[in-house]
Amino acid sequence: MLKITIKQLYMKIEVDRELCTSVATCIAVAPNTFELDEEGIAIVKNPKGDTEETILQAAKSCPVNAIIIYDDAGKQIYPELKK
Ligand code: SF4
Repeated sequence: MLKITIKQLYMKIEVDRELCTSVATCIAVAPNTFELDEEGIAIVKNPKGDTEETILQAAKSCPVNAIIIYDDAGKQIYPELKK
């Protein structure tokens, strides 16, 4: 099980535009970080708009795992990679 220390994390956030289905739960969870663009696809409007914990919750709320979170070393921390 991967452990994440939220307070020490500097996250990089990506949205996979091919996967995003415009459900917008990420925006409901982290409205200061995500928004829908003119095509109805989620984008990161401010990577520090919400707390890292909230942003991680937003990624976990995405039904298609379109939000990918990396730690400060560039390692993908969500969705967790299968070993
Ligand atoms: S929750 Fe996922 S599918 Fe819905 S808008 Fe956000 S990134 Fe796209």
